[in-house]
Amino acid sequence: MNISIDTPKNKMEQEILVSGASIAGLTAAYWLQKAGFIVTVLEREPALRLGGQNIDVKGPGWEIIKMMGLEEKIRKANTTEVGIQFYNTDHKLLAQFPKSEAASMTQELEILRGDLVQILHDEIKNNVNFIFGDYIKVVNDTDADVEITYKSGNIKKFAFLIIAEGIGSLTREQVFKNEVTFAYLGIYTCYFTISKSDTDSLWARWCNAPGGVVILIRPDNHGTTRVCINFRSSENGYEDLSTKKKKELLISKIEGIGWEAARLVGEIRKTDDFYLDRLSQVKACNWSRGRIVMTGDAAYCVTPIGGRGTDLAITGPYIIAGELSEK
Ligand SMILES: Cc1cc2nc3c(=O)[nH]c(=O)nc-3n(C[C@H](O)[C@H](O)[C@H](O)COP(=O)(O)OP(=O)(O)OC[C@H]3O[C@@H](n4cnc5c(N)ncnc54)[C@H](O)[C@@H]3O)c2cc1C
Repeated sequence: MNISIDTPKNKMEQEILVSGASIAGLTAAYWLQKAGFIVTVLEREPALRLGGQNIDVKGPGWEIIKMMGLEEKIRKANTTEVGIQFYNTDHKLLAQFPKSEAASMTQELEILRGDLVQILHDEIKNNVNFIFGDYIKVVNDTDADVEITYKSGNIKKFAFLIIAEGIGSLTREQVFKNEVTFAYLGIYTCYFTISKSDTDSLWARWCNAPGGVVILIRPDNHGTTRVCINFRSSENGYEDLSTKKKKELLISKIEGIGWEAARLVGEIRKTDDFYLDRLSQVKACNWSRGRIVMTGDAAYCVTPIGGRGTDLAITGPYIIAGELSEK
């Protein structure tokens, strides 16, 4: 796959808004500015969101990363994880799979999600306009342009809008209304960062606890430790709770279950890097309408269970930039 992204003169005047500054949005911005568009990236949060655990870059996404010249930076940011160990709630080691074994979850190219976001941002920060702490309130797509009214009250017209706002995208709801369906997988997932302790090592450590709770503790290359906890639940809209309520909910799910739960309860209370969402696939009949297109998890979330979210969040925007540069 190698789409030629040219720099035609008429693109120089065309402005594109990319909403969402994560893997999909920043990749879109990279290729669009390279194609000659004037690109603005809009992020609802006041700064880049750098939380999360390891992700692995593979498949077509890795080929695109190489074309972006980011291979070495990503290799250098490796989390150094050596493989995965499975424990029961009484701390007994049940099995372990080093990185070299096919059954291991640890891949050749493990990078923290936040490190990848930072690398992508740093690559384009001088060529792209960034707006943090604002979001789209109203979208008006005419034949000639897309008029955006921001929450702050500013109004601006763009040639195209790319929606890369992740699974909970609000702009997608506005534009694609009832065309998007969700396949909830019966699980909520949380990611957070904690202090390192003596039990942490270069191994990822996994524990299945009774009641449908899975805890995964992983090393990072920042001197801290990354935790993912999944718990089974009916769909209850927990993703819309405040961070305080989300933390209380998670504590109620793990309190007293054994293994490292007691340590994690204390760390959940302390951490300021906390993410909770539902595991839900996103299915849409259309990914574009007029001058608006969506990509990444907003358009086709496969969930971490699918194992290709990063690959797809890099590949989709690359294809879109190629198509728009032909227009
Ligand atoms: C904080 C965080 C931690 C994560 N941790 C992991 C992890 O450890 N493992 C894993 O497999 N996946 C994780 N994910 C999900 C993973 O990033 C995605 O599944 C995948 O990489 C696709 O990326 P994306 O760019 O489409 O969406 P996302 O990574 O979800 O990014 C969407 C971006 O859009 C922003 N946004 C949302 N709504 C608006 C709006 N209305 N206007 C403007 N901006 C908006 C968000 O703040 C975010 O920066 C995490 C996501 C986040 C946000």
